[in-house]
Amino acid sequence: MKLTDTYDRNLTYLRISITDRCNLRCLYCSPGDPFPRLSHQDILSYEEILHLTRIAVDLGVTKVRITGGEPLIRKNIDDFLHKLRQISGIQDMALTTNGVFLKTHIPSLIKAGLRRINISLDTLKPDRFRRITGVNAFDQVWEGIQEAFHSGLSPIKINTVALRGVNDDELEDIARLSFHYPFHFRFIEYMPVGVSGEQTSAPLYTPEIQERFAKRIGNLMPVGHHSSDGPAERFKFDGAVGEIGFISAMSHHFCNTCNRLRLTASGQIRSCLLSDHQEDIRTALRAGASDAALSDIFLKAARTKGRHHTLNTDTPADVTGRMFSIGG
Ligand code: SAM
Repeated sequence: MKLTDTYDRNLTYLRISITDRCNLRCLYCSPGDPFPRLSHQDILSYEEILHLTRIAVDLGVTKVRITGGEPLIRKNIDDFLHKLRQISGIQDMALTTNGVFLKTHIPSLIKAGLRRINISLDTLKPDRFRRITGVNAFDQVWEGIQEAFHSGLSPIKINTVALRGVNDDELEDIARLSFHYPFHFRFIEYMPVGVSGEQTSAPLYTPEIQERFAKRIGNLMPVGHHSSDGPAERFKFDGAVGEIGFISAMSHHFCNTCNRLRLTASGQIRSCLLSDHQEDIRTALRAGASDAALSDIFLKAARTKGRHHTLNTDTPADVTGRMFSIGG
């Protein structure tokens, strides 16, 4: 049996949140403090995650991404990644991080088998970084990015959430970095999930950003799309070494090609980031359920995947799950 949903999409990509904790308080993700966090015993152990991942791989998953919360604040992540990489059937292992603790982790991450990385960066201005994230750590992130670059991790993807009135005056500066660095700069539309603070009345969507780039930087030339690319539409400026991508979950959803399932830190399987529906697999796992029974829970979760999310419709679902707990 394979993880195929009722719309014939093959779910081959598992995003695994290993913690709901984060050292940053990004205003669009987890503004302010405190939010109730999971207790230690509610969080899946690494062994439990590995067990569930093996089952997911038997059901056809070939790509995994580790996220959170901030994955680099969970202890012994290197050892965990090493074990994850050993699971035969996983062809691609990636990590998403805010980059604050990246620099010192890089040698052990590479040793564990990590080859590519996504780093979130919403601004190039240290003061603004502090305003967006609540922490004065721009320099640490920038050093982490440089270290990732020099260590040969590739591709390095830089994720920027585009927020009108917050960082939209410097999206071009970020895009211009593609002339100097062979990174993939990806501009992400803000998704109104959870009770995130920055609900802009006038959202900033991809077409407007593309228009600005075309006017002020140059033509965006499409880059061929590969099935492993994920949802980003990829482009390049003439003469650039890096790429520009857009993730337009709101203005132009890509649900018809979505191949993802998510495993949250608390052991819930979510078939859609933008729907609160989830299947509890932790209870069965801890009760000693057989692998066949755990497989059934994965298969059931796959069947609950909707045709598309509703956030951009007249009757949007209320998504109360928060990005840091689902694993963005
Ligand atoms: N801590 C890691 C990081 O910062 O990359 C991983 C977790 S974070 C939730 C994963 C990604 O989700 C980040 O790139 C972040 O910018 C994005 N994100 C969080 N909240 C979002 C929202 N409301 N809309 C769009 N993207 C969001």
